[in-house]
Amino acid sequence: MSGNPARGPATVRCPDCRQDVPVPPGAHPGDVIGCPNCAGLALRVREDGGRWVAQLAPTVSCPDCDRVIVLPEGARPGDRVRSCGREYRLTFEYGAWALEPT
Ligand SMILES: [Zn+2]
Ligand SMILES: [Zn+2]
Repeated sequence: MSGNPARGPATVRCPDCRQDVPVPPGAHPGDVIGCPNCAGLALRVREDGGRWVAQLAPTVSCPDCDRVIVLPEGARPGDRVRSCGREYRLTFEYGAWALEPT
């Protein structure tokens, strides 16, 4: 026997609304899921000691079409982000990420 404890459906606690959010079957650490209660919120999930934990993933909206883009881990101001066939420069001002045309 591998000794894995019986687990119910995998869930993570949303850091924003504190509700349990189901983790889809087949999710991998580093995947980004949405919270059903927090529109537009992106949660990056990882596994920690056999449990799923979630962190808010930074997002920015595309200046062209308003699509929400989830930024990769370690994104920093000045990074180049491609969206809608254009390249933008990532900025962080007043607590929010934004994209500036290059
Ligand atoms: Zn939430
Ligand atoms: Zn776009």
